[in-house]
Amino acid sequence: MSMLEAEGLHTFYGKSHILHGVGLEVREGEVVTLLGRNGAGKTTTLRSIAGLTHAREGVVRLFGKVTTDWPPFRIAGLGLGYVPEGRRIFSTLTVDENLRVPAERPGPWSIPRIYQLFPRLAERKTNKGRQLSGGEQEMLAIARALLLNPKLLVLDEPSQGLAPLIVQEVFKVVTTARDEGISVLLVEQNVRAAVAVADRAYVLDDGHIVYEGSAAEFAKDEERVRALAGASA
Ligand code: ATP
Repeated sequence: MSMLEAEGLHTFYGKSHILHGVGLEVREGEVVTLLGRNGAGKTTTLRSIAGLTHAREGVVRLFGKVTTDWPPFRIAGLGLGYVPEGRRIFSTLTVDENLRVPAERPGPWSIPRIYQLFPRLAERKTNKGRQLSGGEQEMLAIARALLLNPKLLVLDEPSQGLAPLIVQEVFKVVTTARDEGISVLLVEQNVRAAVAVADRAYVLDDGHIVYEGSAAEFAKDEERVRALAGASA
């Protein structure tokens, strides 16, 4: 079953035509990564899916419903957990207070469960957001999205600015979420780390999807994909 189907998305900022017919799919239980260089349109694709910047043409279907023109809160209520770039946690609130902010959607995720699965956040419970490391802030941002009990988790560059070991730790959260039955769409520039956890990969370049493949196909095409995605490491 498809959790997300985007077809022929054309998205603009004013007169700037950013997405030129982007299509992608996330099926139930999959981790799918969307790769691409700076400015390729990855964030714009996520914004089009989350209802923050509506596509001018094309269709977004989430969990079988056409949501192309829905407002973001309605899309979130349907089960999309969106973690934007830059970890927008509350810096003056503690970890625990940050986790109490989301309005609840019924489901298996709860604050005790978060602490059980992410012991690092439990250790930091009474620390303020601004006292956390970048990796801890990212984990907190993801944990907050999980408390909404999403069916599809959408992450925008969770590895940004993190040291390699911390990236591994944050990406474990992605596999934990998947093991709990949540599908994941992961935007990344860190090709190696993303592909290590993904079932399928897409590459976006200048607003066009220029590659699509399974993890096995990707292994064969790695050089080409890395070149397309502008990967340096
Ligand atoms: P990055 O890795 O830098 O976030 P990206 O692949 O996510 O890159 P987008 O952020 O989607 O790319 O940006 C795609 C293009 O849209 C870029 O050329 C960018 O300059 C432009 N753009 C992004 N946001 C706006 C905006 N609010 N108004 C006008 N142009 C924008």
